[in-house]
Amino acid sequence: DNEVNIISGALEFSRKTVKDIMTKIEDVFMIDHNEHLDFETMTEIMRRGYTRIPVYESDRENIVALLNIRDLALIDPDDKISLKTICQFYRHHLLFVFDDHPLDQMLSDFRQGHSHMAIVRCVNCEGEGDPYYETIGVVTLEDVIEEIIQSEIIDE
Ligand code: ADP
Repeated sequence: DNEVNIISGALEFSRKTVKDIMTKIEDVFMIDHNEHLDFETMTEIMRRGYTRIPVYESDRENIVALLNIRDLALIDPDDKISLKTICQFYRHHLLFVFDDHPLDQMLSDFRQGHSHMAIVRCVNCEGEGDPYYETIGVVTLEDVIEEIIQSEIIDE
């Protein structure tokens, strides 16, 4: 029955979390905010082809900004502007979510329109010290939509 399929598909979707669909941090293309937008860096960014690129400070786990490929439209590589300067100019909204954030919630967050990428973190309680936030990946609207489409195909 079609209605049952739609409802069970929706339940399946809301049971899943961002951790199930995210791109893991080791696979995320990011840039150090101390880098300069010279010819080499800009070529690498274009070659990778991503729309959104997390920008980190000192450590890949410490994401401090987001670069959108469109930010580069008016940049002259000869000026060798620092990424820090560009990020401070655009200040794109940085969205952080926990790894257990449900997909239906993630979808409605994205629909607010402030950002179409979220940084996924978890609380690490292992070891002796105090618990700390650990950055484990990124998730985009595309990942969520793919999950919706997939569950619909499987339901058929
Ligand atoms: P794009 O517009 O850059 O193609 P999408 O939002 O359509 O990105 O997402 C496509 C896939 O690429 C998703 O699985 C997403 O998690 C992943 N992705 C997006 N940005 C990056 C990045 N900077 N590094 C690695 N993977 C990324």
